[in-house]
Amino acid sequence: MAKRVLITGAAGFLGSHLCDRFIKEGYDVVAMDNLITGDLKNIEHLFPLENFEFHHHDVSKFVHVAGKLDYILHFASPASPIDYLKIPIQTLKVGSLGTHNLLGLAMAKKARLLIASTSEVYGDPQVHPQAETYYGNVNTIGPRGVYDEAKRFQESMTMAYHRYHGLETRIVRIFNTYGPRMRLNDGRVIPAFMGQALRGEDLTIFGDGSQTRSFCYVDDQVEGIYRLLHSDYSGPVNIGNPHEITIKEFAQEILKLTGTDQKLTHKPLPTDDPLKRRPDISLAKKLLDWEPKIGREEGMRRTFEYFKGLSPEELQKSEH
Ligand code: NAD
Ligand code: UDP
Repeated sequence: MAKRVLITGAAGFLGSHLCDRFIKEGYDVVAMDNLITGDLKNIEHLFPLENFEFHHHDVSKFVHVAGKLDYILHFASPASPIDYLKIPIQTLKVGSLGTHNLLGLAMAKKARLLIASTSEVYGDPQVHPQAETYYGNVNTIGPRGVYDEAKRFQESMTMAYHRYHGLETRIVRIFNTYGPRMRLNDGRVIPAFMGQALRGEDLTIFGDGSQTRSFCYVDDQVEGIYRLLHSDYSGPVNIGNPHEITIKEFAQEILKLTGTDQKLTHKPLPTDDPLKRRPDISLAKKLLDWEPKIGREEGMRRTFEYFKGLSPEELQKSEH
């Protein structure tokens, strides 16, 4: 009998790629989403399949799924700074109440639960690169705190269920991941720059562009998550690509890739925007024999192909 997995946030960027992967592996997939930042077009190709079902539901409210569940992957949450600044209360609720509901469901179904945590638990880090042993530097009451603290609470609650109830849990700390199906107007740097390049606008660099990020292609991320779910390790594991780049250099790479000659303009750096970020992935290498395979050049080329294929109407939707 096929294993059955519930994926929350399934209509979003990562959730939809996870649906594809689990379908490919022969699982029955139950997808759940309230479409607050996601889009059904990311999963509509799966609708005709017999082993796929979609539930339109807000997981911050009681979650019911009939039948057995072997695994639950909790990916529902706004994930881009402009999204969680616009909907801060829902962000806090889905990380706290939503996680509580899914922990309860996992108990009832005797399912293994994997939660999507984030490099944001490290805040604006004072240790570089960031290993899982670093406790982080988060401004609780700052505008980003709604996301960071929801995710930190989510980790604590998950570990409490693991320790107190013996529930099987996994925690992935995801570092900046990109690829096809990111929402063009979600404000994250890759869709923002790609949209600007395609519309012939100048690229908006926040601050002086000396802040760094390390970008992981979605297929690598999904592989890491898949391996972690099937491992026997319940502590947090970083999954990300350790190749670090400044945002300014990255903007120049995008101009080269897209063959455009727009200028770089500057906007103020958002409050609490981390100045540097790079995962230490030694633990993932050791435990999961995992490391990213797709370099930025190839990953960005594939992502650009996706954005180029959007309709002119979709392309006009911009956040800046
Ligand atoms: P996304 O916005 O594309 O997807 C999130 C999905 O969750 C959307 O489809 C949205 O409608 C759904 N959702 C939000 N609140 C919900 C609720 N209360 N009930 C049901 N569905 C709800 O974002 P993403 O990039 O795919 O991120 C997915 C997960 O991965 C998030 O938990 C995010 O925190 C985590 N993450 C992503 C990254 C990244 O770089 N993409 C980095 C760190 C962590
Ligand atoms: N950024 C930028 N211009 C944009 C969007 C983002 O310079 O149009 C910067 C942002 O300030 C941050 C980095 O790019 O330093 C990554 O931002 P993103 O929102 O993608 O993710 P974050 O890692 O901050 O969650």
